Amino acid sequence: MSRRRQRPPFLPTPAESKAHAVEMLAQVKAGARDLPGVYEMRSADGEIIYVGKSKKLRTRLLSYFRAEYPADKGARILREAAEIQWEYVPSEFASLLEELARIKRYRPRHNVAGKRDARHFAFIRVARGAAESFRVVRGAGSDEGGVFFGPFHGAMQLTEALRELNDALGLRECALDTPMHFADQADLFAMPRTPGCIRHEIGKCLGPCVGGVRRDEYAARFALARAFLEGANDVPVTALRSAMEAASDELAFERAAAIRDKITRLESLRAQFARLRFAVESLSFVYTPEPKHGDAVSYVIRRGRVRATLPAPRTAEERRAFDARVAGVFAPVERTDGTVPSHEIDELLLVTSWFTRSPKELERTTALAPAPFTLSA
Ligand code: SF4
Repeated sequence: MSRRRQRPPFLPTPAESKAHAVEMLAQVKAGARDLPGVYEMRSADGEIIYVGKSKKLRTRLLSYFRAEYPADKGARILREAAEIQWEYVPSEFASLLEELARIKRYRPRHNVAGKRDARHFAFIRVARGAAESFRVVRGAGSDEGGVFFGPFHGAMQLTEALRELNDALGLRECALDTPMHFADQADLFAMPRTPGCIRHEIGKCLGPCVGGVRRDEYAARFALARAFLEGANDVPVTALRSAMEAASDELAFERAAAIRDKITRLESLRAQFARLRFAVESLSFVYTPEPKHGDAVSYVIRRGRVRATLPAPRTAEERRAFDARVAGVFAPVERTDGTVPSHEIDELLLVTSWFTRSPKELERTTALAPAPFTLSA
């Protein structure tokens, strides 16, 4: 007896899909204009299955109906969609922000948030656990509330620099589910006899998995690495220098020499991380994109994040109120330890990518912070 595959309940039949597509195409042809905007595709039961944006909405929407292959993403979305809605916004930048906001709000199943902007930048994420470690990631993913450093240019170079940092400070790099056995752990007898990892044997990891280090010792070393990434450059080096002097005083010259090597590597890594780090401080200004639809809108951007969206002032009185709002955004002193809250990562990537891709747009910004407006490529 042959078993027929059941279609998931939300999928329309091919005949229903076709009827919906004909209806949506007629709607787009009749009403959509080539202006910047965002659009939503909804299924027959009202679920938002996809959110998109375009600087030319009509052209973009019509392209869905020309998808050549059934496996094309556009064709797949269209097969499930029963309704299409769109809204115009003043500029392409506005469409990017609005798309991101709606993806975060609705989490449509056909969207992969932040993927496009994450191509050229990477972050270092603090992976929590018995023994903390660092991971190179492209975005926040589902780690809401996590600690991230960045953004940095080039995931590959960043991975290499991070490996050096881990090696220099003896931090773990293994899979997150690797069991840890600290030297001061009560159940140490359960520890494997030989480490499955060469890094401990060659002195590149303190070996929290094999009782090579106490929990507090590992945590202190990890804190040094964090301080290094936070820009407190002297902290790790000073701490290691004290350890080196102590080793010399104890006539443990081999240990002292190994620590000296670590210091040298950390000092060269400092420049490497500085080169890779994107200067978010340079993205602090008021940006008013040229309006393609409706009135001009100004974005108050501080350290790469949009802190306020205001109508661009047209009169002297509006200007005074506007300036007061902007001053309010820049007034609070902010911690600049190189970390980014996870909920702001996608927006930071969006803003960073936008001005990297469209450097001419910097001409439409107004300086409000002392930071220089230079973008490293
Ligand atoms: S020595 Fe142990 S803790 Fe260190 S990287 Fe290897 S498996 Fe991980």
